[in-house]
Amino acid sequence: MPDLDGHLVLADRVMPGRLSFSDQIHAVAAHNTVPDRYILPGFIDGHVHGGNGADTMDGVQAIHTLSRFHAQHGTTTILPTTITRPWADVMDALYAVAEVVSTQIPGGPVVHGAHLEGPFVSPHKLGAQPPYAIPPTADRVAEAVGTGCVKVVTLAPELPHAQTAIKQFAEAGVRISLGHTVAEYEETNAAICQICAVGGVAGGTHLFNAMAPITSRKPGPVTALMCSDAYAEMIFDTHHVHPATFRLAHRVMGGRLVFVTDAMRATGLPEGPSQLGGQDVMVKDGAARLPDGTLAGSVLTLDQALRNALQAGTPLLEAAALLSTNPARYLGLADRGTLDVGKRADFVVLDSAFMVQEVWVGGARIV
Ligand SMILES: [Zn+2]
Repeated sequence: MPDLDGHLVLADRVMPGRLSFSDQIHAVAAHNTVPDRYILPGFIDGHVHGGNGADTMDGVQAIHTLSRFHAQHGTTTILPTTITRPWADVMDALYAVAEVVSTQIPGGPVVHGAHLEGPFVSPHKLGAQPPYAIPPTADRVAEAVGTGCVKVVTLAPELPHAQTAIKQFAEAGVRISLGHTVAEYEETNAAICQICAVGGVAGGTHLFNAMAPITSRKPGPVTALMCSDAYAEMIFDTHHVHPATFRLAHRVMGGRLVFVTDAMRATGLPEGPSQLGGQDVMVKDGAARLPDGTLAGSVLTLDQALRNALQAGTPLLEAAALLSTNPARYLGLADRGTLDVGKRADFVVLDSAFMVQEVWVGGARIV
């Protein structure tokens, strides 16, 4: 049986120790002398468009490429994410993700399913989404859910048919992530209540981005998400969210805050011109922007998000949870997210500077 020694980042403490495992963890034991490295639960990315030149919308091979790329950065469970395009293109992408879910990727991370980001978003809050937003009619929702692979949907709650869509998605076990929305506090709060009332799990898509800000008299969707039981994603590349704003959300939300990359195809490539959803973007100084200056998807990887959180003063235990424990709980993945006996053997081994050394998925070393 393989074992790994290092500083184990457990749910409640960091302990020098040894993990013994097959495809799941069999023992977690204290150990006196261990190498100067950290072992964390594998990272879970619930919102990622692409990487290493590949985009979810390009189909099966591209999903392999982007998934393998993010595995190099510690991602052991991934949800390839669509973008707002004509409906037939979105459905093609979902079928491609469904195919990869059924075959999985040898030597890659677990492909848990898709995040359907767009086209059920507000045409008035597209952010960097191309202008193909459409309402979530019952037929379209049924078609998307019928692929069996949609695990998260980004939904603007003010759209026509949204209430019926919430019921349909919740019944299918899909996490409903409110975002790309012009809804204010009241409407967002009502949607969160409706999601809970029909047995669903509410989330927020890239908190603070593509939604109204908090002001004194308009608390906005951010406050509704932070002050409820909802989870929320955050792109913590320090461009989309300031470190102080991250600290605020983290202090309020704790275990309900979930890091994602929202990475685009340019991630991992030299900076310069790239594409997002058929639009030109320019990557410069770690940020991707449309020609009008709008921040597009990121060029973030989850190991960098971890280092950013540590840099912002987050204790290691809590920083690790943002990438593993919290997203596992949000997505209902009870078999992963912590280094506990009986959990999947999904690990990231990091050196003392928190650079990725090794990645293990289901007890097999893939990096
Ligand atoms: Zn987005």
